[in-house]
Amino acid sequence: MEHQSDILILGGGPSGLSTALHLVQIAPHLAPRILILEKEHYPRFKLCAGGLVADAEIILERLGLDVREVPHVDVDCAHFDFDGKGLNIRLSKRHALRVIRRDEFDAWLAAKTQSAGVEIRQGVAVKNIIPDQNGVTVETDQGNLRAQIVVGADGSNGITRRCILPNNPLQTARVLEVITPVGQSPHKNKDAYFDFFPVPENIAGYTWDFPTQIHGQPMRCWGIYDANILAGNKRPALKELLAEEMSHHGFNLDEYEIKGHPIRWYEPQNQISVPRVLLVGDAAGADPIFGEGISMALGYGAVAAHEISESIQRGEFSFRKYRQRVARSGLGQTLFARWVIANVIYPIKWRWFQILLWRIVKPIVLFVAWIFVLNWSKRLK
Ligand SMILES: Cc1cc2nc3c(=O)[nH]c(=O)nc-3n(C[C@H](O)[C@H](O)[C@H](O)COP(=O)(O)OP(=O)(O)OC[C@H]3O[C@@H](n4cnc5c(N)ncnc54)[C@H](O)[C@@H]3O)c2cc1C
Repeated sequence: MEHQSDILILGGGPSGLSTALHLVQIAPHLAPRILILEKEHYPRFKLCAGGLVADAEIILERLGLDVREVPHVDVDCAHFDFDGKGLNIRLSKRHALRVIRRDEFDAWLAAKTQSAGVEIRQGVAVKNIIPDQNGVTVETDQGNLRAQIVVGADGSNGITRRCILPNNPLQTARVLEVITPVGQSPHKNKDAYFDFFPVPENIAGYTWDFPTQIHGQPMRCWGIYDANILAGNKRPALKELLAEEMSHHGFNLDEYEIKGHPIRWYEPQNQISVPRVLLVGDAAGADPIFGEGISMALGYGAVAAHEISESIQRGEFSFRKYRQRVARSGLGQTLFARWVIANVIYPIKWRWFQILLWRIVKPIVLFVAWIFVLNWSKRLK
């Protein structure tokens, strides 16, 4: 065995880095006992629109981190529409959404983690994870490592889940993304737009259009999300609907590079740990309504860190109660609520219902969002 460590975190995205940062915050003496393996080198590309909700910023603030150090664009107003009309969210004292680029954000968070005394080995790809009674063997393209505890933070396509829970069912959303110049769109430059017009076409999701920046240059980020809840029905190609939305704003999708990536989303009955190995972030499951996962990834890190530090104190690594701990936390409560909401608002796919939801019963939707979708990050133990 080349290396022996106590806590091995597989994946250096927001969930893995947050787990390490929270562990060091709870128990600073653990810093030299944590090792993060990341297959890429920072700053590495990650397909993501980079929308940060307030909960993500609250978690970062509690870690003593100020995300304004990362290049960003602040969104004044978020529009949730059906066919171009719906409800608007504008907050009185702060931005509705903050948009970062993931190469910059993740590199910044990784640098903060290293400053906290945690080693990150970059360019190491994990190939296999084999837990046994006394520890876990992690096979990589650069040799084998041995750990007391392994955290699977390797994202939606990660290998950890496949190794430890090979027969677990998967709920996977399809997502496409395109970056364009700002152009002549009638959309306001500092606003973000979500449009649920694809739902009656059996797409359980929406198109988005965000402001963003690349190397300081203002750009727009477009995309389409489909939770795949209506997968048994006849559906147009996702690309067609995104092209339709962009054409309303004077953009021809064929002129831009289109990229796709799945997002694994949360189901309450899914297992998220086995003895000595637990999952965080997309590996455990993101939000099914929007595919929002950065704040969730940061939140999983906080919950997992408490679970790990207590298990180290007890010298017992079954993680039998980890799923329950996640479920009882603010993170688990919002994930559960979002799972229920997604399973209501997407299967009732008729036009009239979507018009009612986004244009008519706005105060009810805002109330439900405020109570069940947002403001969960204060309860993360
Ligand atoms: C198109 C698209 C748009 C999105 N937009 C938003 C948005 O606007 N807002 C939002 O909140 N969420 C968004 N998401 C979701 C968000 O990107 C994820 O939820 C988030 O990245 C999850 O973080 P994570 O740390 O769990 O996983 P990841 O960010 O995927 O990080 C996993 C890390 O593990 C590494 N890794 C993987 N396999 C291995 C291996 N075998 N060995 C070593 N390292 C490995 C990867 O290189 C990566 O660094 C979007 C997703 C997509 C696909």
